[in-house]
Amino acid sequence: MDPIIGIDLGTTNSAAAHLGPDGPEIIPNALGGRLTPSVVGVDDAGTVLVGAAAKELQVLRPDRCAALFKRHMGTDRRYELGKKTFTPEELSGLVLRSLKDDAEAFFKRPVTRAVITCPAYFNDRQRKATLAAGRIAGLTVERILNEPTAAAIAYGFHETRTDRTFLVFDLGGGTFDVSVVQVFDGTLEVRASAGETSLGGEDFTRTMAARVLEGLGQSFERAEAVTPLLVSRLVQQCELAKRRLSKDDAAAVRVPDAAGEYGAKAAEVTITRQQLEGWVNPTLARCELPIRRALADTRLARDQIDEVILVGGATRMPVVVRLVADLFGKPPQGRLNPDEVVALGAAVQAGLVGRAGAVDDLVVTDVSPFTLGVEVSKRFGGDFQDGYFDPVIDRNTTIPTSRVKRYSTLHPNQTIISLKVYQGESRRVGENLLLGEFDVKGIPPGPVGQGVDVRFTYDLNGVLEVEATVVATKQKVTHVITKHAQGLNEQQVRAAVRAMETLKSHPREDAENRFLLARAERVFKELPADLRRLLSELLDGFEAALESQEPAAIEANREGLRQFLSRHDPDHEAEGDAEDAE
Ligand code: AMP
Repeated sequence: MDPIIGIDLGTTNSAAAHLGPDGPEIIPNALGGRLTPSVVGVDDAGTVLVGAAAKELQVLRPDRCAALFKRHMGTDRRYELGKKTFTPEELSGLVLRSLKDDAEAFFKRPVTRAVITCPAYFNDRQRKATLAAGRIAGLTVERILNEPTAAAIAYGFHETRTDRTFLVFDLGGGTFDVSVVQVFDGTLEVRASAGETSLGGEDFTRTMAARVLEGLGQSFERAEAVTPLLVSRLVQQCELAKRRLSKDDAAAVRVPDAAGEYGAKAAEVTITRQQLEGWVNPTLARCELPIRRALADTRLARDQIDEVILVGGATRMPVVVRLVADLFGKPPQGRLNPDEVVALGAAVQAGLVGRAGAVDDLVVTDVSPFTLGVEVSKRFGGDFQDGYFDPVIDRNTTIPTSRVKRYSTLHPNQTIISLKVYQGESRRVGENLLLGEFDVKGIPPGPVGQGVDVRFTYDLNGVLEVEATVVATKQKVTHVITKHAQGLNEQQVRAAVRAMETLKSHPREDAENRFLLARAERVFKELPADLRRLLSELLDGFEAALESQEPAAIEANREGLRQFLSRHDPDHEAEGDAEDAE
């Protein structure tokens, strides 16, 4: 049978994994790395770069690169890279395609099926956008799996025998999710999920950059508008310093000039861990509400949580570990690599979908993290007031689920009911998310109170179908909530699939060369004149070798360039530190 892979489509990094005979394993990318940065760029020749090479290009050419697009999945946001325009779904599709290519190189056969994860707190529109991204990449998405559920599965896979309750604390680059999970008799049951879709490590990095600029008398917003190169380099510096501060008490941040270069007079600011913690604490405090909500929904007290599991790169910060320890009165667990655990869990789920022997006895259930319902009018005295939200499926109901509720006409001889479907937790629909609307026609004329049964069916991917039946005639109207003002419709997805085929991209074998070239361009700008000359010669030699297409010459020149960069890249050591921290 064709392999099914598990994919963690992350805000900052993505990863693919498969279920091997000894359990889930990460599939290496073309550079041999385990994580692929979720960054897409278009170079001067109009060729698309994905991953580490795009991340390098982003430092020098932020106008040609896009990152953090996961935050805008399912919206009308568009990205202009060079002469091309992309939707967030297309950019995610490019990342997915790159992971698909890695899996195909790994298995040496086509890979067309995947389980893809998304934040538990992704709404219906964002989930559909994730499905669309999969299709754009040429993947059949077998299941959309919640990230904390995936993490719980990765932990549960090896440890199903002990019954216990754990809480998954997932703080990634852009989102925060919390799930309460019970392992009972070999069944892994998600009891509740809650979260925030705009809270993560990237906010900490940007806060740090803003404070550094403020210290120098500049505003971040203004700098972003006027000197984008300065900001993109500074953010990169802050990212490195932030990682360093997870291990050290202080780290230096070099501040580039307006052109994004480090001249002789470049300022250097030292940031202490204490300072950083003071800056991020107000944002971090927002984690408490979703935790409280998830616990309240399961009616569990904090001390009934046996274990807290940390997931997501931002949980490497000591301040996060301390927060969790304080909240739960015990140190959290991080036995599995927090950057990889979601992909590993997705691979186990892929094994469950493909009925791989190793996972035969594992049962996983998940919940719908949001309340789903319709708009209703309420009668106060003689007046009707519309705009009220009436829940059909309560949040944290185990899925798949199907619930039916009866609604009735408000006026004599009313033959149509307009159904507006919402998702959210507010009493008023105005503060909830409109998922779709449709008319139920053909109600026989008659007195007030003609009934319409509305059935909501929420599937394992967290995608909703609504069916309305006119009670008197048994006539049914079914509506899969797909069309909406925002996000891609079916036609747009098809167009995106076609557009994908015409995009120029480098062959996979060329990935390391492209990455080295992009990295060398960035490092070049930072070097003193004598080293620049040396690097320039190495680059000339490498480019000539690439032109000649002579494998031996390419390899020899590549090795020279690689060694030079590992000695002279000022940011190299810090990257290594981050890896060590795993
Ligand atoms: P993820 O979405 O799980 O890949 O998490 C990525 C986020 O984790 C980014 O915002 C990174 O800056 C952050 N991160 C990764 N490693 C560290 C570290 N050692 N210290 C602090 N933050 C980190």
